Amino acid sequence: MGSEVQILSGANFQREAMVIIKVFTAGPAETNAILMGCQVTRQAAIIDVPSGSIPLILKALENDALVPQMILLTHSHWDHLADAAELKRILGIPVYVHREDAGNLEKPGSDRLPLFFPIEGVKADHFLTDGQVIPLGELKIEVIHTPGHTPGGVCFWLKKEKILISGDTLFKGTIGNLSFPTARPALMWESLKKLAELPPETRVIPGHGPETTIQAESWIAQAKEIFDHEF
Ligand SMILES: [Zn+2]
Ligand SMILES: [Zn+2]
Repeated sequence: MGSEVQILSGANFQREAMVIIKVFTAGPAETNAILMGCQVTRQAAIIDVPSGSIPLILKALENDALVPQMILLTHSHWDHLADAAELKRILGIPVYVHREDAGNLEKPGSDRLPLFFPIEGVKADHFLTDGQVIPLGELKIEVIHTPGHTPGGVCFWLKKEKILISGDTLFKGTIGNLSFPTARPALMWESLKKLAELPPETRVIPGHGPETTIQAESWIAQAKEIFDHEF
């Protein structure tokens, strides 16, 4: 009995030790930049690059001795990519976005969402696709296409570690804005249903605000009934 408990806690420890997650909130929309790293290989990905986040990201990379490999974007709204071009220049690493959001990444504002200050565009190096698995050291980042808030919105899912980076698809207690020009409410309901099927204990780290879990947001399976009258 005692040894069983030890094995369980050992496995748990290993799971916890494998991934490094750091969240930095920056920019006028208080957007979360997320640093994800593999404990074993020290390889890291930067997910979303809001205005003013670069010094925070660079310091964290140095403090944790992480080697940046890629910039992943949950979607192409200006508040998530304002400093992506500059960070790409500094680190010399590729930028990934879903093809349907790539146009607005290259020409910010072409989605007709007003920009509050000039934002430098950047050409994507790779396109994200639903179900794609991106290795990051010993981590496997799975891409879940979650259109609705934008056509090319994605979530990043660490299946083994049960961590979801949800962008502006899902927040603690609510969902991303569906009144923007390229938003598609009908697609959002389907995307949320996909997320509702993830393990309840999944830790959810959104594009804005504090983290939550799939269990705490189990209402998203009925999001259409809850929000539909507003759109
Ligand atoms: Zn957004
Ligand atoms: Zn946002």
